[in-house]
Amino acid sequence: MTQPAAPRVVNCPTCGKPVSWSAESAFRPFCSERCRNIDLGAWAAEEYRVPENEKQSSNEQ
Ligand SMILES: [Zn+2]
Repeated sequence: MTQPAAPRVVNCPTCGKPVSWSAESAFRPFCSERCRNIDLGAWAAEEYRVPENEKQSSNEQ
């Protein structure tokens, strides 16, 4: 008795969309490259926060 291989599905961390955990999903656990980049971007933004006062913008009057 062998059970049919149920496709494992995970939720995309970015948008929550179900992603089938297979070789076809190249960006798993993300549903797409875009979602992966969004997640990485958010992580990078959080990790490497650039201080605003780094730029000297002359904003007088
Ligand atoms: Zn997604």
